[in-house]
Amino acid sequence: MTASLMVDAPALSERLAVVRAGIADAVATAGRDPAEVTLIVVTKFQPASLGRELAALGVRDFGENRHQDAQPKAAELADLGATWHFVGQLQSKKARQVRAYCRVIHSVDRESLIDAFTSEAGVNEHPPTEIFLQLNLTDDPSRGGVSDSGLESLVERVLAVPGIALRGVMAVAPLDEEPRSAFARVRAASERVAALAPDATAISMGMSGDYAEAILEGATHLRVGSAITGNRPVAG
Ligand SMILES: *Cc1c(COP(=O)(O)O)cnc(C)c1O
Repeated sequence: MTASLMVDAPALSERLAVVRAGIADAVATAGRDPAEVTLIVVTKFQPASLGRELAALGVRDFGENRHQDAQPKAAELADLGATWHFVGQLQSKKARQVRAYCRVIHSVDRESLIDAFTSEAGVNEHPPTEIFLQLNLTDDPSRGGVSDSGLESLVERVLAVPGIALRGVMAVAPLDEEPRSAFARVRAASERVAALAPDATAISMGMSGDYAEAILEGATHLRVGSAITGNRPVAG
């Protein structure tokens, strides 16, 4: 068990290089501009030291899914000047704390969360928080994400609120569907959002197993964890 917690620096750089090459290939196949695609390395459950090693390899964007882990890690690595992305389910009462260290929140899926941003005193103390609206691609409400039918009204709500900037949509491919077809549905939802909010064209999708399919369907923000970091240490 201990061995799996040890970080092998050459292996890390090799895994990162493999993912970067895979991204470059998919971008070329899709005929897209590499500058449109941002790689976010999801470092959840990993020690802050891994973030430092990744930064030395040129990683500038980190993703985390639990506030209690992410906050101290972001603080310890504040000198890196990295961009922190929150990708996990978020409780409204934590929204304000997360906003203090994450410039981007990918998992906004309900009005109460948006209201938590508005009800803040000192709403101007941060630069605008960039947000993605998370789509639920399943019929299971516990998976997180707004249902297809609720998307437009959530967009309207976000646009009415100062201090947050809508970037686009985010999704996780369901386990029981081909990623490519799930991502095509996200692309269609993205077009609906852009019809209401012309600047909100970003698409956050694609993980270790499906980032190439995501790129082919227009992903602009990839959230890749284990393919780069190796197996995650057991939580807790
Ligand atoms: C963990 C996680 C990822 C990264 O998953 P991998 O399969 O390790 O690449 C991406 N997005 C979200 C929302 C996650 O929770």
